[in-house]
Amino acid sequence: MVILKTTREIAAMREAGRVSSMALQEAGKAVEPGVSTLEIDTIVRKYIEKQGAAPSFLGYGGFPASACISVNNVVIHGIPSAKIILKQGDIVSIDVGAKLNGYHGDNAYTFACGDISKESEALLNATKEALFEGIKKALAGNRTGDIGNAVQKYAEARSYSVVRDFVGHGVGAKLHEDPSIPNYGTPGRGVRLLPGMTIAIEPMINQGTHKVKVLDDGWTTVTADGKLSAHFEHTIAVTPNGPVILTLPD
Ligand code: MG
Repeated sequence: MVILKTTREIAAMREAGRVSSMALQEAGKAVEPGVSTLEIDTIVRKYIEKQGAAPSFLGYGGFPASACISVNNVVIHGIPSAKIILKQGDIVSIDVGAKLNGYHGDNAYTFACGDISKESEALLNATKEALFEGIKKALAGNRTGDIGNAVQKYAEARSYSVVRDFVGHGVGAKLHEDPSIPNYGTPGRGVRLLPGMTIAIEPMINQGTHKVKVLDDGWTTVTADGKLSAHFEHTIAVTPNGPVILTLPD
């Protein structure tokens, strides 16, 4: 069931989104060679808690950390670890959610660790742009397929592939609400977008095959062919005046 939010609820979500966005920014500042993903997770948790908010992911479905930190061929749901030490040239996807005043903000960004290859940089840029292509279609009266198609078209035109097994989602008092927001689709198909819908659009774009597999830890999701993957995400509100990004810093 899709839960529409009032203007007041959307304002509260913007606060949660601001905290999650700032936490993501803090995480990004810490990305450098020699740092462990556990250290970054600690920065995220402390930042969120200092704002009087709670990390949305900590304990969610048993997830053991505050951020998902997914390096190189890890697509999503990487578990922060003292054993995972970032190196020059890595691409580091960090996904952060914060709950404040009863609402979640959910966002992700893929950071470069030091100097990265031209190929990696191109993947990051394309994934970020694909997210904004999707956001542009988050208009009342459109359908979820319009968003997915815009993301897919942008990525595939650059010969990347779109992950199918994981998708974006409604977000609000619950971290995952209806509807699903696939990053692929057909224009004019899927759930109709209405003012008051709040959704997380989150393209996961791969260099090679779209196929992924989940490792034995039950979380870490990697590309089936070992090639790189990037992930960008914003929580947005569908409003009568167009899409409004809720996960923005001060
Ligand atoms: Mg999400």
